[in-house]
Amino acid sequence: MDSITEFEGLNAQQFGGSSVPNLGGGSSSSSSSSSSSSSSNSRYENQKRRDWNTFCQYLKNHRPPLTLSRCSGAHVLEFLRYLDQFGKTKVHTPICPFYGHPNPPAPCPCPLRQAWGSLDSLIGRLRAAFEENGGMPEANPFGARAIRLYLREVRDVQSKARGISYEKKKRKRPQQQILPPPTGA
Ligand SMILES: [Zn+2]
Repeated sequence: MDSITEFEGLNAQQFGGSSVPNLGGGSSSSSSSSSSSSSSNSRYENQKRRDWNTFCQYLKNHRPPLTLSRCSGAHVLEFLRYLDQFGKTKVHTPICPFYGHPNPPAPCPCPLRQAWGSLDSLIGRLRAAFEENGGMPEANPFGARAIRLYLREVRDVQSKARGISYEKKKRKRPQQQILPPPTGA
């Protein structure tokens, strides 16, 4: 496929889970897209469950101990920064000769981060999962303004550092956060 894959979500194998589910199987010649929406929907649900487990695990290991009910937007930001160590997206610093190059011709020592698109869709999934797990919408730490601001900043920094505009790509997947809630599992 194309570069859209960077929006698929976190790479779960880094947390000991399995990687993105393999949708292989029958190589049907049908060109109908009627079944693709339900399979992408369950991929979303699976990813959301894995993300939620990852976050709960993070809370469990947090020092000092942290419970979901005491979790604030600041803690979520801490979580996002923690995830950067597992990132695979090279984000050039302004002093790097490849700053602003989408396809650098050589390696450089710049840090690897979580791609903005991954963080953005992760927050969307966790925000939904929080409420599905009994959280009050008005207390949803994933909806905090500080997180929106942080994500906007990450997007700006990464689009400049990588020479990539996220505006156009983002519009290709407008359906991401308006999926219906699951009806019993
Ligand atoms: Zn660099």
